[in-house]
Amino acid sequence: MSRGTCPHEDAVLAATLEAADVPLSRELTEHLATCEGCRDLHVIASTLHDDHAATMAEARLPSAGQVWWRAELRARQEAAAAAARPITVVTGVALACVVGLFASVAGVLVWWLRDSLATPAAQLVTNSVTTAAEWPVPDGARVLLWLIAGVLLLATPFVLYVAFREE
Ligand SMILES: [Zn+2]
Repeated sequence: MSRGTCPHEDAVLAATLEAADVPLSRELTEHLATCEGCRDLHVIASTLHDDHAATMAEARLPSAGQVWWRAELRARQEAAAAAARPITVVTGVALACVVGLFASVAGVLVWWLRDSLATPAAQLVTNSVTTAAEWPVPDGARVLLWLIAGVLLLATPFVLYVAFREE
């Protein structure tokens, strides 16, 4: 069912939306009785207008004090989060360093254990009382390297902590 546009639609729409409290003019009322399109337009427009008015009446805007208080609270939370970010980074780096230190110590222990296991069992049995000098000792350069790595791993988090704290 197709219907041509009625020349009174604009007038009906304007009268319905802009002067909803005022009854339609006699001319428009008579037209609505004869024109189905304008009648539908009038019903839909008045429903939308009433709904809009009811929504606006129910809407509660916060007071200026509440708006200010919320903005202040949000600013404080953002500042606290920004301040805590470097601490989180330092904590992560320190944790990684500790894990690295444990890994290097474990590596030294495994290497030492492997060397002592490679020693013939008979020799260990005959030397039931082993002195420190008889234990398989890693050569000096490797021990020095491991020690330097360990010291660096331990010192890094403290250096980073001091650096970030002074910012
Ligand atoms: Zn009409």
